[in-house]
Parts: sequence; C-alpha cells; structure tokens
Amino acid sequence: MLRRAAGAAARLGSRRHLTTSTARGGTKPYDVVVIGGGSGGIACARESASLGARVAVLDAVSPSPQGTSWGLGGTCVNVGCIPKKLMHRAARLGDAFGVLGSALGWPSVPDKAPAHDWPALSSSVTSYVRSLNFGYRSALQKEGVDYINAFGQLGPCADDGSFVVACTAPTDESDSDAEEPLPDLVASSVVVATGTRPVLPSEDDLPGVSSLAITSDDLFSLRESPGRVLVVGGGYIALECAGFLRGLGLPVTVVHRSDRFLRAFDSDASRAVVQDLTARGVQFRTGLSLSAITSEASHAGKPKMVRARNAETGEEVSLGEFDTVMFAIGRQPLSPSRFGAQNAGVETAGGRVTGGHAWPGHKLCELSSHVPESSTCPGVFAVGDVLQGSSELTPVAIQQGVRVARLLNQAGWKYGASRATEDPASATAFSLDGLDLGGLGMEVEPSQRAPPSRPTPAPWQLAVPPPVDPTLVPTAVFTPAEYACVGLSEEEAIRQYGQDGVEVVWSKFDDLEARLASQHAWRPHGEPGSLAKVVARREEPWNVLGFHLVGPEASEAIQGFAMALRAGVTLPDVASCVGVHPTLSEELVSAHVTRRSGADPTKSSC
Ligand code: FAD
Repeated sequence: MLRRAAGAAARLGSRRHLTTSTARGGTKPYDVVVIGGGSGGIACARESASLGARVAVLDAVSPSPQGTSWGLGGTCVNVGCIPKKLMHRAARLGDAFGVLGSALGWPSVPDKAPAHDWPALSSSVTSYVRSLNFGYRSALQKEGVDYINAFGQLGPCADDGSFVVACTAPTDESDSDAEEPLPDLVASSVVVATGTRPVLPSEDDLPGVSSLAITSDDLFSLRESPGRVLVVGGGYIALECAGFLRGLGLPVTVVHRSDRFLRAFDSDASRAVVQDLTARGVQFRTGLSLSAITSEASHAGKPKMVRARNAETGEEVSLGEFDTVMFAIGRQPLSPSRFGAQNAGVETAGGRVTGGHAWPGHKLCELSSHVPESSTCPGVFAVGDVLQGSSELTPVAIQQGVRVARLLNQAGWKYGASRATEDPASATAFSLDGLDLGGLGMEVEPSQRAPPSRPTPAPWQLAVPPPVDPTLVPTAVFTPAEYACVGLSEEEAIRQYGQDGVEVVWSKFDDLEARLASQHAWRPHGEPGSLAKVVARREEPWNVLGFHLVGPEASEAIQGFAMALRAGVTLPDVASCVGVHPTLSEELVSAHVTRRSGADPTKSSC
C-alpha cells in the first residue's frame, strides 16, 4: 500500500506544478470530470478519452481509522478483489501440504505442514498492488486522461450548464480538514464514482472499536500475521476473509448476529459454504453482537478480550482472546457532502446517489429513455458502488462507466461549457511531468494530450450497452469451497413467482478432490461439500432463472452459464447440454433431481 509519507513528494510536486500552470493557463473546461478513480471511474475516464473527450479523473483516499491508505485504482485493486483473490489462492495452495497432497504423491507430513509465511505473502501482494497503481497512472497518462491526486467536490451548475469541481489535495496530517486547495476544474459533465468504505460500529456503541479493530481496508497490508482472528459479520467479505485466513493456518472465529449467512444469496448454497468452512476448522458463533473489546494496549496490534451479547436473551458471553478483530458488517459511501452532492442538487439516499432520473429536453434522454446512472442534477452521473441499487461489483462499475462515456459521446458531450472555448495554452495544465510516483522513484513523461492511435473500433464496439440488469450479473464468493451464481436464488424466485411457479433441479456431491481426501480421513464423511442447483420457471418453456454452484474453482465455471441465462436458456436446453467430464460445472447440466420430487439429491458416485 502507498503509505501516506510515501506519497508526500508526489503531492508536493503536483501542487507546485498545478499552481504554475494555472498562473499561465487559467482554468479550462473539460468535457468530463470523473470524481473517484476506482473501477467505474477509471473505466469511464478511459472510454471517454478514447472517444475524443477531454477528461480529468480525481482520486484520493481518506485513510482508514488505522491510518491505512493506498494508491490509484480504488477498492478492487488495493483492498478488494485483487489482494483477496491472491490470498485465497495462497490458502488453496496450502491444501496441497495436507493429506490431499500426500495422497497425490507429494511428500508432506500432515501434522507438520510448513508454517505459512504471512510477511512474505503480504509483501508480494503489496508489491503487486503497487505495480497496478503505477500501471493505472501511466495508462491514464498515455491515453490522454489528466489524473489528479485530489478530492473533488462538485459546485452548483452554472447558467451555461457547466460545473465547477473544487479540488483539495490530501495531506499527511491525520486531521482530514487540513487538505490543501488546488485550482478548480470546470466540466460539462461530472461522473461521481466515489465507491464505498467499510462500516465500523460507533464509539458510543463499542468504545475503543476504532483503535482496536480493523476492517478489510487494513487486512491485506498487515506486515505481521494477524494471529488469532475474530471476524465480525456474515456477508461475503467476512466469509472470504475467514476462509483464506483459516487456510493459511490461523485460528479463526466468525461471530454474526444471525444464523443466516450470505443473506442475499441462495440459502442452500450459503449453508454448503458455511459447512465447508466449519469442516476446515472455522468456529462460528451466531446470534451474537459484540458488546465490548478491551485490551491493555490502545492499538490494534495487541491481544484483545472480546465479549458479545445474545441478540434474543441479552445475556453477555465472552468470545475469548484474539490478536485481530476484523469487522466486515457492511459498506457505506463517504458522506455525500464529500463530493458536493448538496451543492449541485444531487439527491442521495443512505449516502448513495439515487439514479434513473429523466431530464426533459436533454439530448441524452432522447437517446435512452432510461438512464439509471443519471442523477437528479442534469449533467451529473453516478457509476459503481455509490449508485443506489447497483450490484457492488467491479465488472458492474466498469460496465456503467463505459456506458455513461458512450452515452455522453452520442450526445456530443453537450452539457454547458463547449469544447470550442478550449484554450490550447492550458492543454497540459494538469500533466504529471516530473512527479515521483508514490515513492516508486519513477519519473513519467509529460502527458500526451492526443490519445494514442488505436485500431478503428467495429460499430458494435461503440454501441451503448444496455443498463446493467442485476438479475443477469454473475458473481462468486471466494471461500475455500467457492460459490458462484447468476440469476435468482430459490427464495427470490419463489417470492416472485410463487412456490408452484418455480422448478428447482439440484445435486449435492463431493468433487473429485474431496472424495480422494475423504478416503484419507481429512474431511469428515457426512453432507457432501459441493452443490449444483438450477432454478427455473415451472411452465413452458421452462426458462431458467438462476444457476448456483458450490465447489473448488466454481468461479471459473459461472461465466458461460451467465451468457446462457442472458440468451434465455431453458431447462430442456440445460438437460440436453453435454457436460465436460470430470468437472464441477458438468453437475449443473447433469443434475436431474427436482426439489418437488422430494428425492435425495445426494450423488454417491462419479
Ligand atoms: P471504488 O473502487 O471504491 O473507487 C472509488 C474511489 O474514489 C476510491 O479510490 C476513493 O478513495 C475515491 N474517492 C472517494 N471520494 C472521493 C472524492 N470526493 N474525490 C476523489 N476521490 C474520491 N468485486 C468483484 O467484482 N469481485 C470480487 O471478488 C470482489 N471482492 C471484493 C473484496 C473486498 C474485500 C471488497 C471490499 C470489495 C470487493 N469487490 C469485489 C467489490 C469491488 O471492489 C467494488 O464493487 C468496486 O471496486 C467498486 O468500484 P467503484 O468504482 O464504484 O468504487
């Protein structure tokens, strides 16, 4: 992670440069200013630039309460998908040192499996993430996007339809009010892509929590092993972290206020995931909310005693002593005032931008009657996690970012200030020349205003993709037994179509590795660990509503099923599809036991 001190030189350099350029060139209108350089913001900025727009992207990170900060790229790259997946892989590799490895001929002694080296993993992950930060910076520069390491705050819409975006540079002081003002930007359109951050309970509810607990924002860059870990929460981030920490050999307890995990997902699949984690040694404590964290030290690095209260009886129990307490109880955007929602009349709910507004008389709305990314203020859009109702996933943020860029392109980038007023003298006002990139010691060339020449895109590559349909978004939970799905859960399908309107075909089984391992007593016999489920309409033509798969590498299998769902696949199509043997995904096309039949879906042989 980019520690705050490491970024100081770059920011100072940036401020000097900006001041000089502004004295020379003044402010200049951009076609698009993107506030937030994560998955959605960067996708929007790059696509807009490739379509010929003048674009700036502002990105800055408010440090976590533990002081962790990072570089360009947003949550996914720095504290989300990428470090998480690498740690998941590290944990899965560890399985090879157990009974499974020795059953397959690798010399290993189950009781003396090599201890995992956390500092080595953390250091590899951090270096890789830094290389991605650098890659984004240089890609933006090459593609003609002005990147500014600053917080952006929208101002009111001017009479000519343009917006002023106030910029402030983060400082190294812990006082976040001490930000340094930079010159304002002027933009025809603004895209808000400010994402979300993990939630911690308030100090009133849990005294000491902000100094004694961490979140996923801190976990991936810990220099020392987190030791005995208490994970608080029951969503996918909680279970994924519990899974890889346990896989790396650490004692892990998960405490959750209910006994329903992965609430938005299919409950059979969720049970299979929790059962597999339990078999691997994760302790689950349910129906409890944390009531006290105490420690002799006042920071997160020392052992802590944790107590919890039973949600029903109010009785308080001790959960024991832990080295790390990690909260994964949900995510929220930063306060909307941070990006200036109130100044431009952008309405929000629960901190998220409410989307889908029609702007009568605006060209964009003629192009598309439904623009879920449009805010209440014409000319201001939102993409990614900050957009209310959006599935909080990287590919969704990217798709929305590309969509908004192409919509604006088709509308001629017409919101207020026009490109005709451009002052060529100011064209490089925000270039990155001479900056030390976040302590990496790398100098970059001045930014190139003209985007590099590219192969001419085919017409379909310029088409505006339809709004993202959340019922067709595939996703995966990267627990040791991965859970991948697309479409409706069985519960949601029944809610929409009624019990009699839904057909479920399913299978419970052990994958090849688990069968082999169970013969060697690694895994207790009992409920099989993997699950395949197809949820469909119970009427002609038996349209499939959802696919669910639990097992090793399930995430790799779901993409094709997502395509089939989008194309309107039916149960007869699925049943007549020839499987690939021996794989996990063949179970989705070979499952034939219907829930309605009441028959046991457990498969006893290959
Ligand atoms: P972000 O990527 O969060 O980017 C927003 C950026 O804006 C941040 O850099 C922020 O600091 C900056 N910012 C905020 N306010 C301002 C301001 N006023 N001015 C300037 N900059 C500002 N998704 C998947 O698809 N697959 C996964 O496996 C997956 N795993 C995840 C694991 C974890 C632990 C977490 C936390 C998330 C995971 N996600 C995953 C979700 C994914 O990371 C997010 O959906 C995605 O990053 C959202 O992108 P975004 O552009 O909306 O926001």
